[in-house]
Amino acid sequence: MKRILAGLLMMAGAAGCMAQAPHKWAVEIHGGAGVIERKSMTPAREKAYRAGMQEALDAAAAVLDKGGKAVDAVEAAIKLLEDNPLFNAGRGAVFAADGTNQMDSAIMDGSTMAAGAVADTQTTRHPISLARAVMEHSGHVMLVGKGADQFAREQGLEQQPASFFFTEERWQQLGEEMKEKGLSMPARPAGAAEPTGKPMAMLESKDAHKWGTVGVVALDRAGNVAAGTSTGGLTAKRWNRVGDTPVIGAGTYASNQSCAVSATGTGEYFIRLTVARTICALVEYKGMRLQEAADEVIQKKLTAMHGDGGIIALTPDGQMAWSFNSPGMFRARKSEVGASLIGIYRDEP
Ligand code: ASP
Repeated sequence: MKRILAGLLMMAGAAGCMAQAPHKWAVEIHGGAGVIERKSMTPAREKAYRAGMQEALDAAAAVLDKGGKAVDAVEAAIKLLEDNPLFNAGRGAVFAADGTNQMDSAIMDGSTMAAGAVADTQTTRHPISLARAVMEHSGHVMLVGKGADQFAREQGLEQQPASFFFTEERWQQLGEEMKEKGLSMPARPAGAAEPTGKPMAMLESKDAHKWGTVGVVALDRAGNVAAGTSTGGLTAKRWNRVGDTPVIGAGTYASNQSCAVSATGTGEYFIRLTVARTICALVEYKGMRLQEAADEVIQKKLTAMHGDGGIIALTPDGQMAWSFNSPGMFRARKSEVGASLIGIYRDEP
């Protein structure tokens, strides 16, 4: 009798295993949302943006395809975007009113709900890696300013001078913004390359690329989701302003119980609407499909509040969504079963 029971249990176990199909990996990235229109983009610049997104997508896909962890895919892709001067994160971050780059970043692992975030870092080359170090080695969730950079040094993370993060384009953007606000321009950072004299370089309109925050959400083969976001924040920000990016639940959130979200847009709205967590709560408690939940928060709530921006999101069961209410959002996705999809303008899929 015992043997029959054991046999039955073994068969049930095997059936259970078979029913649990391996998860198909998936990844989405964004490179900021805003007034991004064809008329304000040169073909060369558009090509460079698409190439930058493809490169980040491929890096994440390579990690996931060989069975790597979602958090590793998120960090790998964001590090590339932070090094790409086109995006407002790491090198190429926008300038604060005092002429410094004040960078914010966060990462969250949906399998453990561990999270790490940093705000106002100025010397760490990869804020996303610092956020991860905070998550894994600090015993805290959020570090700010000098203390965050000090922790980065203690963790052996690469440090860089202000001139490393400097781009002429962002400096000129600061100039325009300061003029508009009636503020005087700070001194050019020490060691920054000499001005090129090229007006706004390849940038045709100040508003066209006001944003440029980067974010990644990933689902790995083990069925775990993760999210990460990195930004220089808003041009000409003052008083050590911090946006939604490093605020867990606002600009970044991940839980295997619901979804992973990374946001971009005017952070003040995303913080008050706790955008990322609200989307996941709708999935978790209301049983909404991911796209419906994302649209509820972005198209309805954010829009009603006159906020602007968008999100990328995915669930442990492989649903992928993005939603934005601005004219454009740099975005891309790829999954184990689907080819790369890259979009910039509203009328693209
Ligand atoms: N959300 C970022 C912030 O408010 C900016 C952005 O996404 O472009 O700091």
